[in-house]
Amino acid sequence: MVEYQKNQEVEVVVNALGNEGEGVGHTQDGYTVFVKDALPGDVIRAKLMKCKKQYAFGRLVEILTPSKDRVEAVCEKARVCGGCQIQEIAYEKQLEFKADKVKGNLVRIGGVKNPPMESIIGMEDPWRYRNKAQFPIGRTKEGKIVAGFYAGRTHAIVPVPDNDCVLGREVNAKILGKVISHMETYDIEPYDEATGTGLVRHVLIRCGYSTDEIMVCLVVNGTKIPEEDALADSLMEIPGMTSIMLNTNMDQTNVILGDQVRTIRGESYITDQIGDVKFCISPLSFYQVNPVQTEKLYRKALEYAGLTGKETVWDVYCGIGTISLFLAQKAKKVYGVEIVPDAIEDAKKNAALNGIHNVKFFVGKAEDVLPKQYEKHQIYADVIVVDPPRKGCEQAVLDTILKMRPKRVVYVSCNSATLARDIKTLAEDGYVLKAVTPVDQFCHTAHVESVSLLVRGQMWE
Ligand code: SAH
Repeated sequence: MVEYQKNQEVEVVVNALGNEGEGVGHTQDGYTVFVKDALPGDVIRAKLMKCKKQYAFGRLVEILTPSKDRVEAVCEKARVCGGCQIQEIAYEKQLEFKADKVKGNLVRIGGVKNPPMESIIGMEDPWRYRNKAQFPIGRTKEGKIVAGFYAGRTHAIVPVPDNDCVLGREVNAKILGKVISHMETYDIEPYDEATGTGLVRHVLIRCGYSTDEIMVCLVVNGTKIPEEDALADSLMEIPGMTSIMLNTNMDQTNVILGDQVRTIRGESYITDQIGDVKFCISPLSFYQVNPVQTEKLYRKALEYAGLTGKETVWDVYCGIGTISLFLAQKAKKVYGVEIVPDAIEDAKKNAALNGIHNVKFFVGKAEDVLPKQYEKHQIYADVIVVDPPRKGCEQAVLDTILKMRPKRVVYVSCNSATLARDIKTLAEDGYVLKAVTPVDQFCHTAHVESVSLLVRGQMWE
């Protein structure tokens, strides 16, 4: 085979998408090249940036023949911004890619021969769906204060065009404009990651989808902002502004939020509603970012749970109790466990707010609480729902599920690689994968959510 070298330009026929939404193709003599922003069906010229024996990473130089699935990006920063990865692929094809990604991982990592896939649930209008945005604040080379996003894989700030990201709400632009102008008026420095100096790190905005309530949380390298009242007065002019908070993060880290929050004006939370359940959401709590799709996701989870009103259910990694409260309406008893104390406070408040009394929440690590509750109190479950972070379930959680032997396990996942790994573990002990539905919660990104149903196989009956 020809030896390839760094900086060499090659022609690549792209025929697949990689895990991160990058194009994967081959040179004429079969050398594999990964190229960001290239799509299956494109013929491109790429510059090789890093060459390995079997494959290389290249940069897109020119599209020689565009794929028929290529569309023009709506956002002019789509390629540089790390937020979106696949905005240039027609939405229908994005859905196909995501369904294939889940299926592929189940086959390759999970060892599932024929994954029982149901159709992916997409969005009718896949724009402006995010109810939450976290904008880093920084300075451009010219010294202008800007709100932006991080460029892919780095922490260089890409300014959002007109402060208006097309995945988020229009009101974000107004809020960012007001914060930046306040910083300019009172000479307030944005935080500089390299030196650890400066004050304003991020602006976190959350909107209630069904209530139109808005929360602004300023993340600062300190405990206050100069002329806080003036900023609050100005932000309160925005219709729906319900909560203005300040989060202190003085650590030199890339974790966005610190663990201290203070209310500057209004409430310390906003409310929202999914189906007929109401929720209070505080700044530190996890809440699904795409409310339209979340309702579809939870309905699928509820369908898979197959509840009749007699069941005991565990909702593991329960956040503010969203899934727990959804299920509690159809179950005898629901237990939830979650690591973030504020989220459990919200969960308890939410149960009371909805008059739901057959739920009990535990704060702690799922891998500690679940085994302990099982061993100490013999809490048994008919159905266990898990919705872990990207790294998937801890082994201790899976081990306890296998001991509890619920009839059904409903696995909500935001990372199909760890989903597949965990399904393999459960399958080795008798659980059979019955159905998988991918749900597009993160349109234009390479991420995909899914909900799966596993049932206890014959050997346990
Ligand atoms: N089911 C919820 C939240 C899912 S996100 C919803 O749909 O809104 C995953 C949640 O797991 C987050 O709230 C996170 O704080 C929590 N978490 C992360 N690691 C955990 C652990 N080891 N034990 C318990 N909860 C954890």
